[in-house]
Amino acid sequence: MEHLESKELRHDWTKEELLAIYHRPLLDLVFEAASVHRRWHRPDEVQISTLLSVKTGGCPEDCSYCGQAARYHTDIKVQSLLPTETVLTHAQKAKDAGSSRFCMAAAWREVRDNRDFDRIIDMVKGVNDMGLEVCCTLGMLTEHQAQRLQEAGLYAYNHNLDTSEEFYDEIISTRKFDNRIQTINNVRKAGITVCSGGIIGLGEKPADRISMLRTLANMERHPESVPINALARVPGTPLENLPKVDVWDMVRMIATARIVMPASMVRLSAGRIEMTEVEQAWCFMAGANSIFTGERQTLLVTPNPGVDEDMQMLQNLGLKPMPSKKEVSCSNG
Ligand code: SF4
Repeated sequence: MEHLESKELRHDWTKEELLAIYHRPLLDLVFEAASVHRRWHRPDEVQISTLLSVKTGGCPEDCSYCGQAARYHTDIKVQSLLPTETVLTHAQKAKDAGSSRFCMAAAWREVRDNRDFDRIIDMVKGVNDMGLEVCCTLGMLTEHQAQRLQEAGLYAYNHNLDTSEEFYDEIISTRKFDNRIQTINNVRKAGITVCSGGIIGLGEKPADRISMLRTLANMERHPESVPINALARVPGTPLENLPKVDVWDMVRMIATARIVMPASMVRLSAGRIEMTEVEQAWCFMAGANSIFTGERQTLLVTPNPGVDEDMQMLQNLGLKPMPSKKEVSCSNG
C-alpha cells in the first residue's frame, strides 16, 4: 500500500459528482472502487464485527423499517437490559470466534442518566479490557454522556443517518435528521470514532442515496466506519411489503461510498442473509471490508448468516479476518 495521508481525503463532493459516480457503468465503477480499496486498505482482510442486542424491543420511536418499535406488531420479544456478565460472556465468545469488534445495541430513543447507563459503562469497560474494539448504539447522546463512554474505553459509536435529509420524514417522524447530526457531533467532540451509514430499499430514489452519502462524505472528518444496509423486511412493520433490494444497487452504493470515503471501513451490513456468496463477493470487490455477524445467526433482530458460514465464505474467497486496531497498535509498540 502507498503511504496515504488524510489530507488526500475530499470533503467537498457535489451532488453531480456523486450521481455521476453512482451511475457509472457497473464494471467501471467496481474497477475504480476496487483500485481505491487496494490503495487504502489490505484487500485480503475483512473485519468481523459482532453485534449483540443488549436491550431489545419496546422502543418509543417510529422508524418504519424497525421491528423493535413498540407501536408495530412484530414477533420480536421485548428483552430488558442484559446482565453485564452475560454480555461479557458473549464478547469473549465473539473474540474467540475471530471478531475484533464488539457492538452493543440498545433499543432506546436516547440515553438517560440512570442505572442502566451505569451498567452500559461497566459493559464498555469490560469489553475494552478484552482488547476488542468496543462500539455502542444506544440512540441519541449528549456531549457529557459521550464523554463518559469515551472515558470507559468506548472505541466507536454507531448512529446511522438512515436515509437522506430530504426523505427522512417519510421514514421517521419521532425525531429529525438534525438530531442525528447533533449526536454524531457529540460523539466526535468526545474523541470517539464515528460509525454512520444508512439503509437502502426504503422507497428512496437514487438521489436520496447520493444525498445521504454526500452528508457523510462532506463531514469535517469522514466516519471511520460506514455501514451500508439493505432493508430487512420485518413482518408487521410499515415497510414489510417493499421489494427486495437489487444486489447491483448494494454494489453501487458500496462502491460509491468506497470511492468518496476511501479511508473508512465500509460495512456490508443488514440484508446479507438474502445474498448469495457470489453476490457478497461482488460487495467485497466493490470495497466492502467489514461484515457483521451475530450469535444465534441474527443481526440484532433480523436473520443473518452464522459465524461458521461467514468464516467458510472468507476462506472460499481467500480473505481473512482483520486483527483489531488495538491489537495492531499493541504489537507495533
Ligand atoms: S431503529 Fe432504533 S430508534 Fe428506531 S425504532 Fe428501532 S430501536 Fe428504536
